[in-house]
Amino acid sequence: TIITRFAPSPTGYLHLGGARTALFNWLYARHHGGKALLRIEDTDAKRSTQDAIDKIIEGLDWLGLSFDEEPVFQSQRAQRHAEVANTLLANGHAYKCFATPEELEAMRAEQRANKQPMRYDGRWRDREPGPEQEGQPFTVRLKVAKDGETAIEDQVQGRVTVRNEEIDDYILLRADGTPTYMLAVVVDDHDMGVTHVIRGDDHLNNAFRQLPIYRAMNAIEGGWDDPAYAHVPLIHGSDGAKLSKRHGAVGVEAYRDELGILPEALFNYLLRLGWGHGDREEVTQDEAIELFDLDGVGRSPARFDIKKLQNLNGHYIREAADARLAGIVAGELAGSVDGEIDQDLLTRAMPVLKTRAKDTHELAENARFLFAKRPLTMTEKAAGLLDDEARARLAQVSAELAGQSDWTIEALEATTKSLAERLEVGLGKLAQPLRAALTGTTTSPGIFDVLALLGKEESLARIDAQAV
Ligand code: GLU
Repeated sequence: TIITRFAPSPTGYLHLGGARTALFNWLYARHHGGKALLRIEDTDAKRSTQDAIDKIIEGLDWLGLSFDEEPVFQSQRAQRHAEVANTLLANGHAYKCFATPEELEAMRAEQRANKQPMRYDGRWRDREPGPEQEGQPFTVRLKVAKDGETAIEDQVQGRVTVRNEEIDDYILLRADGTPTYMLAVVVDDHDMGVTHVIRGDDHLNNAFRQLPIYRAMNAIEGGWDDPAYAHVPLIHGSDGAKLSKRHGAVGVEAYRDELGILPEALFNYLLRLGWGHGDREEVTQDEAIELFDLDGVGRSPARFDIKKLQNLNGHYIREAADARLAGIVAGELAGSVDGEIDQDLLTRAMPVLKTRAKDTHELAENARFLFAKRPLTMTEKAAGLLDDEARARLAQVSAELAGQSDWTIEALEATTKSLAERLEVGLGKLAQPLRAALTGTTTSPGIFDVLALLGKEESLARIDAQAV
């Protein structure tokens, strides 16, 4: 079976690039009926926080990406990592390096001065420790074969080769016995049974350093087959530079909280960012699972375009169920409206509200008038509109509507239109003051929709509050 993993370092947010990596891993596993696992790479104790872990898990959840099994916490596996390093050591695939930090610094300074690549020079590779090393601190380094080359058939990048002399004898265990990231990733991927490593292409170089561990362990005890690799191009901003804080919201939850994006919009946008399937535009989660494969992942960096995401979001808002949107909007309005939030009313209002909103914040703002308390707070424009003439018109409308028993959109429209005809004014002369009186603004859904939603009693009360 196919097993993928998403392995974030919990040092900040679940950013877009991470979310997309998670999505591709999840889709690949689901498409092939395999498993998608989650590993929290929390070995950097100083930078890893519980808050970041919670945000990652919450963000994945919100996107609808449920990973299989309990998450693995890398920090809890240090003993196992050390065990593998010691196996490599005992079998001659790793060695102890007693070089002191000062010595290594001098080595690097010399390499820098000679414009040589800065790389550990293997000074302890073939050297036996003498009595003077007794009790001295040492690191454990991987003994990497220096002849020939290593090739990776990357499922996104194609065949990539590196000369082995370029791969340094890097550290597996630090002097304090803690494992390095490079060792931990390989041991965890192996122990979790990971068959496909799908991640950002900033890790492609690491793959060449990680493979020698697989090969050495495979030679020692078998069962350490190379994983398949797929290194996905990073996401860039619209200016072509790698996506960063400069480009705006970074964490997935900010797209929800600050930009009012629906999860299915972000899901689709991330999917299409770097993966294409003919001219298919929006796809459901099930369709994505059915269609996804790595051969659809492009080799050039995708550009993040907030406008496209917002347009897509508008589409998904129009598609979303009214009761669900009402729930989201109620949450956003809670605490910032005077009146009680009536979810049924919100649900009934959604068909007219959602046609014009690009995000859930806009939706909430457009719904705000429904729960306003009298006297309504007016926008400057709305207040300016309500001059003496307009207030007199409101009185005429009020008198007309007071006798109206059929409070449907059609009936309200017919009554108001015939009143306008009788008064020999354009419909706007009645509709504009009405809008101001009913919503406190100059923009709203259709005025008859507004009347119908507010109901007779509330509508007349709002009109009368402004009429003379
Ligand atoms: N923890 C690494 C990161 O956040 C990913 C490691 C991997 O995918 O191999 O970039």
